[in-house]
Amino acid sequence: MTDIKIPIANPLVGDEEIEEVLKVLKSGMIAQGPKVEEFEKKFAKCIGSKYAIATNSGTAALHVALLSAGIGEGDEVITTPFTFIATGNSIVYTGARPVFVDIDPKTYNIDVDKIEAKITPKTKAIMPVHLYGQPALMDKINEIAKKHNLIVIEDAAQAHGAIFKDKNVGNWGDMACFSFYPTKNMTTSEGGIITTNDKELHDKAQKFRAHGASKRYFHDEIGYNFRMTDIEAAIGIAQLKKIDGFNESRISNANYLNENLKDVKSIKTPFLEDDSKHVYHQYTILITKGNRDDWVEFLTEKGIGTGIHYPIPLYNQPIYKKLGIDGDCEFAENAADNVISLPVHPSITKEDLDIIIDVIKQASSKFS
Ligand SMILES: *Cc1c(COP(=O)(O)O)cnc(C)c1O
Repeated sequence: MTDIKIPIANPLVGDEEIEEVLKVLKSGMIAQGPKVEEFEKKFAKCIGSKYAIATNSGTAALHVALLSAGIGEGDEVITTPFTFIATGNSIVYTGARPVFVDIDPKTYNIDVDKIEAKITPKTKAIMPVHLYGQPALMDKINEIAKKHNLIVIEDAAQAHGAIFKDKNVGNWGDMACFSFYPTKNMTTSEGGIITTNDKELHDKAQKFRAHGASKRYFHDEIGYNFRMTDIEAAIGIAQLKKIDGFNESRISNANYLNENLKDVKSIKTPFLEDDSKHVYHQYTILITKGNRDDWVEFLTEKGIGTGIHYPIPLYNQPIYKKLGIDGDCEFAENAADNVISLPVHPSITKEDLDIIIDVIKQASSKFS
């Protein structure tokens, strides 16, 4: 085994988080309580949305958002196959069916020009993903949704602080869902949150998060226990003070990589949409020569951590095949075979970046 010297992720939890957590532990209120409410208010303010509903994971946030939109058995939800399994699973949990639209090969986000062809009388919602932290084309998506009377739920799990046309992601859809898993742009350990500007959806989401109760011990929906704890919220409150700095650091690392890798043969650096702020949850390149696994092996030997986001389009996952959830997305398949994510997180140093650039150049000559 070779040592990874530059890891692909490194969650930054400091003294502030530890102090906040200790305060909560000493308070005796350690489940959902005042800290969760404080975190929701502060997160909503940070995103610019009216409401936020915290959950115990990003997956739970997506599930609750779909339930709040009334999506269930017999419905179809349009999404991308080139994402983490949670996007598709949240749809499957409700009894609805994910319908996959191919990606734009430049950005890896859902190709908005291919959405309308997939709309049927059963379609109820569109769930775009802001993949790697780059906003999907939300103006076009909302236009299509409006025309066909569809709900829009943003999967913003990778895009805290990303902006599309002067409006934060998290405000474009009817609801948006963020994840606070440790590798994401900010963390609560495990955790997630829904943002919305719609009071009715906010009330429904609160209900589905906590056993479908409209008042204590009175249940008029089958809900879940998807509550965040005050311990997690305390971490989140401390992280909210740092998220802008974390993102600026990711962006400056990515800009440096872009600048120094743009002319390197055999790879494609990330494409940036106009009018977008990309927050680089991942810095992902596409290999155009050689075998991706050989590239990964070479980078690993040189001590550089990598990630494959994602190796299999969702419809080719064994369980989706078994369930008959199909798809046929040429560009998603090509990306799945050829992408590599490189370290871009805030604890990467200039020396680390120079090593990454040098090793990528070596790999480029080796595999071209
Ligand atoms: C991380 C992630 C999720 C799920 O969030 P968890 O907090 O891990 O449950 C959903 N969608 C995408 C695109 C993600 O990256």
